[in-house]
Amino acid sequence: MTAAGANGRVPGRLPSGIFSAAMIPDAPVLVGVDPATGRPHPPLPCASPEDVAAAVADARKARGRWREAGVEGRAAVLRRGIEKLADPAVAESLAERITSEMGKPIAKARAEIATVLARFEPYVERAKAASAPTRAREGGIEVEVTYRPLGVAAVIGPWNYPVATPANLLLSSLLMGNTVVFKPSEVTPRTGLALAEILADALPRGVLSCVVGGGDVGRTLVEGGVDLVAFTGSVRTGQAIMKAAAEHMTRLVLELGGKDPMIVLPGADLDRAVAFAVQQGFANSGQVCVAVERILVHREVQGAFTERLVAGVENLTVGPPGDPDTDLGPLATAAQRDHVQALVEDAILRGARARTPVRFFGPGFFAAPVVLDDVTPEMRILHEETFGPVVTVESFDEVDDAVERANATPYGLGASVWGPDDQASAVAERIEAGMVGVNRGISAAAGAPWVGWKKSGYGYARSVEGMRQFAVPQSIARNVASGG
Ligand code: NAD
Repeated sequence: MTAAGANGRVPGRLPSGIFSAAMIPDAPVLVGVDPATGRPHPPLPCASPEDVAAAVADARKARGRWREAGVEGRAAVLRRGIEKLADPAVAESLAERITSEMGKPIAKARAEIATVLARFEPYVERAKAASAPTRAREGGIEVEVTYRPLGVAAVIGPWNYPVATPANLLLSSLLMGNTVVFKPSEVTPRTGLALAEILADALPRGVLSCVVGGGDVGRTLVEGGVDLVAFTGSVRTGQAIMKAAAEHMTRLVLELGGKDPMIVLPGADLDRAVAFAVQQGFANSGQVCVAVERILVHREVQGAFTERLVAGVENLTVGPPGDPDTDLGPLATAAQRDHVQALVEDAILRGARARTPVRFFGPGFFAAPVVLDDVTPEMRILHEETFGPVVTVESFDEVDDAVERANATPYGLGASVWGPDDQASAVAERIEAGMVGVNRGISAAAGAPWVGWKKSGYGYARSVEGMRQFAVPQSIARNVASGG
């Protein structure tokens, strides 16, 4: 594994760099931190611009054979990597890396890897359906539409699900016939390198490479002549990538942040709604793109809902990620902890009431889960993605007002509505979010797309149509004999 290759090039130097809280400006070596202890990981040097260029060149050389393998051939080779990932010892070592780099409880790290295994075969089926040519006739013309691989894809990932999230984009890109240069988050580079090594094990050289480093390495890759950028991360970085992509009209699939609302109507099953809010507001310490961040509860049920919510949140255990009783590990970085703390403090200074104890503590970057009510629109926490273990609770009297407030955000990733089915469904249709749950969370079940609306995404993934975002349709028109 090299600066450029996850599949067999001899390293001239270590693959890349890492950092977490304290990036040293302009330093080629970055140091990551175990977020549960604050102890630094050994440093890794960043990929140089030459490393990135070599990875892209290797990927370009490899794309012809990979394209010609066809979707079934590609799936067969990738399946060997997935089988390797399913090996208990391999999976456990990867889970330990996830936990040591970004702090999620080890059981959740194992579960994250399990989702990749479970999704593989459905992805293959969708890629097959997406790749199947269609033919149609009109007059004396037959038009055949096929879906061609774009070429070299840059896959750039975040740290919150450092295996599952990039795996979605890696597998979609690869199954649809692109070769890939992957840049994992600088917070989780060893996890990214390990994932790439596992998947690349059976692949021909150049089909999947991995370069690690910070945003500068990501920028170099985006500007390095790739044909597609498949990205998951923040809106701000998504916008920077979009600007850079304008130069060559590089195709984009951008999965970005969210500020998901949860609306609770009178007549909702409060036990189920509260259980969902506790799960989806605080899982992964709230570092989930589709985390519940804003809860809007009808005044009739607000008191009962909030009381049960507070009780549920008080039952959550914050602790070391290796402890089987831990529900919430630390936040992933000091910067993330500082961001969450700043939003909570801003809200409290402006009059919000904390219904649970507010505690940020170390060593490491721990935060106790927080429920805030009495929130008002001038507070940052109602507008900025918190990405931490905090939910706000607001009340409403009229459904129209709840819908307006739920939509009063530039984000539009997920949402949920709780109440009598017909009423909740009618409200769900008025929410400006790509994915909405009715008396449940959002779901990509049954081949539905993973999609953001407004600033939460551009292009989308999963689903048959989602797979086609990793390809370009080509129509070939032929004359057909009349009556033929
Ligand atoms: P981020 O935008 O800070 O970084 C993401 C990646 O982009 C990193 O690998 C980073 O090095 C790279 N990068 C930074 N600047 C770049 C540039 N100019 N060009 C190219 N690459 C660059 O995001 P993050 O903090 O790692 O992740 C958290 C964000 O991801 C949250 O906003 C979260 O909501 C979002 N997210 C979205 C989804 C989804 O499916 N929509 C899933 C997971 C996370």
